[in-house]
Amino acid sequence: MSEILQISQLGNPVLRRRSQVVENVKDDRIQQLIDSLIATVKHAHGVGIAAPQTAKSDRLFIVASRPNLRYPNAPQMEPTAMINPRIMARSTETAKDWEGCLSVPGIRGLVPRSRAIEIEYTSKDGKIHRQELTDFVARIFQHEYDHLEGIIFLDRVESTEELMSEDEYQKQIVNLL
Ligand code: ZN
Repeated sequence: MSEILQISQLGNPVLRRRSQVVENVKDDRIQQLIDSLIATVKHAHGVGIAAPQTAKSDRLFIVASRPNLRYPNAPQMEPTAMINPRIMARSTETAKDWEGCLSVPGIRGLVPRSRAIEIEYTSKDGKIHRQELTDFVARIFQHEYDHLEGIIFLDRVESTEELMSEDEYQKQIVNLL
């Protein structure tokens, strides 16, 4: 059964650990973790969540893009588990946009990311997928991938002047759209 998991917050050492490769996708623990992560990201209204955010150092995360205020054209997709994900290639073109994180409540930061990436991952049923991601979904993937390496989006913000409280972000950025 899937349960709502507690989300580790900034300062918890688990967020700084490098996650371990998932050896057996069909393992009960992994299958249950996937279901619980999907339930948790829905419950938290997130667009992605990585296993270390729930104190599990496994190389897997959920990407759950959906249209929202900031990205009205974001693809609506079923929450997708990506296990042992890899970035095979990156566009030289980068883009900066505002990110937040369920582990860093109340803060937004402007983060540069590759605009397009070619990726590989194993899905919940054990199949290997290779595809190109662009824009918002590529951004989610890179943010979640960083969690597996112990990196937080704050590490990638280029200046502390490019940080904002959630309240100011809502006033200044969302209201402009
Ligand atoms: Zn995050």
